[in-house]
Amino acid sequence: PTGIRAPPRDANRYRGRVSTQQNGRVALVTGTSRGIGAAIAADLLAAGYRVAGTSRTGTAPEGVLGIAADITEPDQVDAAYRRVEDEIGPVEVLVANAGITRDGLLAMMKDEAWDDVIGTNLSGAFRTVRRAVRPMTRARFGRIVLIGSVSAYVGTPGQVNYAASKAGLIGMARSVAGELGSRGITCNVVAPGFVRTDMTDELSDEVRADYLKRIPLRRAAEVGDVAAAVRFLCSDEAGYITGVVLPVDGGIGMGR
Ligand code: NDP
Repeated sequence: PTGIRAPPRDANRYRGRVSTQQNGRVALVTGTSRGIGAAIAADLLAAGYRVAGTSRTGTAPEGVLGIAADITEPDQVDAAYRRVEDEIGPVEVLVANAGITRDGLLAMMKDEAWDDVIGTNLSGAFRTVRRAVRPMTRARFGRIVLIGSVSAYVGTPGQVNYAASKAGLIGMARSVAGELGSRGITCNVVAPGFVRTDMTDELSDEVRADYLKRIPLRRAAEVGDVAAAVRFLCSDEAGYITGVVLPVDGGIGMGR
């Protein structure tokens, strides 16, 4: 009587159907040598995608086509795409995940720390997305997910460069969404909060304890929490969702 349909009883059968639909789509993930990017690549592979992964070292999880490419170098980005196109086909799903931090208080922040972070996190994502869109436009299908951060909208003292780079990704995603929606291409941001990776292992115990106190779910995210959200936005089923920021932050940003 409510008109709301119950979820399918046999959840496994439902999952099976979804993953079959993704079968064979080509996904490219940047920053797959460790952390969140490695988890996203492995997760998409398990869901039936053919996956390529880039990083400066070129390492990627087993079964993923690993390619060495520095996203600050336009030629290397182009060469990586050509290799993916030659070996597994044109990229239909792009996850721009590679990113760095160079933390420090504003008054002491060197130009180099600003330039490195903007050059990798924002300009690197720009180059990666720019190279993706022509083949996606031709295919009339594309899924682009940019890995942002809650820092973009809550701000993080000591991370002026990083927060600015991640805020830039939101403007980029929404502009891409507007430009290319008519071609069947979606572009969204997944914004993790505090995730246990090498990047956050660098934080002091004090900073880590302070973060945990402020997270309603009282734990750091595991990389799989982020990968699951990314997988959803990459799926065919998410085809009517574009220009959104999906926080995966244990509630610390309360939906912002
Ligand atoms: P890691 O430092 O563990 O991994 C970063 C990845 O990016 C590595 O694979 C690294 O590979 C790659 N990378 C860095 N610079 C370049 C470059 N110039 N060209 C190509 N690849 C590069 O970070 P996380 O896994 O923690 O973070 C992944 C993403 O998630 C980042 O964008 C980060 O900002 C974001 N994020 C992380 C959070 C966290 O709590 N950990 C919270 C919110 C967002 P290599 O060194 O081999 O090049």
